[in-house]
Amino acid sequence: MPSFHFETTPRIVCERGAALRLAQILQAGGHRRAFLVTDPGLVAAGLIDAPAAALRAAGLHVAVYDRVQADPPEHVVLEAAQAARDDRADCVIGLGGGSSLDTAKLVALLAANPQPLADIYGPQRARGPRLPLIQVPTTAGTGSEVTPTSVVSTPDHQKRGVISSLLFPDVAVLDAALTAALPPGPTAMTGIDAMVHAIEAYTTRHKKNPMSDMLAMRALQLLHGHLGGAVRQGGDLDSREAMLLGSLLAGMAFANAPVAAIHALAHPLGSHFHVPHGLANSLVMVPILRFNLPVAEAAYAELARALDPGLRDAADAEAALAFIAAMQAHVTASPIAQRLRDVGVGESDLPALAEAAMTVDRLLMNNPRDLTRDDALAIYTQAF
Ligand SMILES: [Zn+2]
Repeated sequence: MPSFHFETTPRIVCERGAALRLAQILQAGGHRRAFLVTDPGLVAAGLIDAPAAALRAAGLHVAVYDRVQADPPEHVVLEAAQAARDDRADCVIGLGGGSSLDTAKLVALLAANPQPLADIYGPQRARGPRLPLIQVPTTAGTGSEVTPTSVVSTPDHQKRGVISSLLFPDVAVLDAALTAALPPGPTAMTGIDAMVHAIEAYTTRHKKNPMSDMLAMRALQLLHGHLGGAVRQGGDLDSREAMLLGSLLAGMAFANAPVAAIHALAHPLGSHFHVPHGLANSLVMVPILRFNLPVAEAAYAELARALDPGLRDAADAEAALAFIAAMQAHVTASPIAQRLRDVGVGESDLPALAEAAMTVDRLLMNNPRDLTRDDALAIYTQAF
């Protein structure tokens, strides 16, 4: 067995209504001044009032920062960190989708130890300490509550990541009640993103290990089994809870066994065409699964057998094809754009997308099969 390292968020709370009981966790740690990071959509949806009121009722001081935007720009991160310092916060709560959680990570870091963002992009460049950090996801999801990464949009419209063990949150709180109102489209996009995290972790060329394999497989079972229910019946808290847990387990897997070509080819769809992250992954997922099939057949077959016991005795070739068909069925059944042409991409844009995808070599290097610019163009053409 190859040697490996595994890191994750040390404490997981999976409990309905837990978002109303955050005070217990904070007060047990001796914290009194919470800085809550979220976005205006969640405030408008009324999801922030009750958790904030419960914290105040328990005697904590709470400041709410609600100006997080999708793909958070640097100035938002810096403004929020300054607000946390000004408020003398002694702990940070991220409550929202991936953008709020990513922002909360950097607020917790920069409020305790101001350092220029430009100095800390890339792996393991941030310096501690940071404030204690609780993450409460409202999508399932990015898995940001269990990853060491925070992605920021720079003023020149690049996405840069701060990757640091310091950014693993202290506590992840999964409260299915918070995700019940998420509409079917975003539920499907974020759910497929979580599935891609599990698939790419399980088939990654680097750092795949027994822990990430176990987590990815269980994550995919949960996500595959419950995505349809969460999309069709958003108020079904059993499905919602399974999706949140699946997303968290997939996050734990890919935090240690990194994602690959699906995320690499999704990347320019986000930066050039503002396609939401999960949708971008969904648009290119199946063509890349097919591209990887010659080298990933055995791994896909293992995943297929985990999803469908009826395939236990099937040959690898048959089971792997069944796996790709099952993933295709999730995309087809989802109320989301199905092709690149549906999200504003023109056929003449495809060569530039392929060119841009090749610059994401930090992810492409993890792909089980080498992928050239011509391969990327062929994949985008299939997805068009
Ligand atoms: Zn993702």
